[in-house]
Amino acid sequence: MPDHVKWMRLIVEGAKAAAAEGEEPAAAVVVQDGQIIGLGRNSRNSEKCGLGHAVLNALLDAKRNLGLRPKDVTLYCTLEPCAMCLGATIFAGINTVVYGTHDDARGAVEMFKEHSIYGDWLPELINGVLMKECEALKKLPSFKKAMVKSHTVARTDA
Ligand SMILES: [Zn+2]
Repeated sequence: MPDHVKWMRLIVEGAKAAAAEGEEPAAAVVVQDGQIIGLGRNSRNSEKCGLGHAVLNALLDAKRNLGLRPKDVTLYCTLEPCAMCLGATIFAGINTVVYGTHDDARGAVEMFKEHSIYGDWLPELINGVLMKECEALKKLPSFKKAMVKSHTVARTDA
């Protein structure tokens, strides 16, 4: 039985640390053979770049360890991945994605399934591990602030 809860606990703490630094509370870890090969958390504000999502950061951190066709690699993330991050997960060859809770605003899992986007390549998707803890992250002020900000930026850039 994989240690889903153990890894999710780790990134819930990582997400809280991100929130304490004024980032959106989201974190991710890439695990292979019981070892961490990549870690990431949201870095949009500190890096002033919209690509600074937790999942993408974790995948980039894992990049040199992944190789072309990685085996038995699991990505854990507190929030359902967005389209960018789920696409990157697929191209990284991640086998399983475990996430804590839905992201109603940006989550892309249902869209990818419904429209069979990269259908055969979709990793196994497991939702709801430590859901209560991950839902609580959404109530932190920096999560709400990030949501308001991203909508504001989208409007002013249009
Ligand atoms: Zn993302």
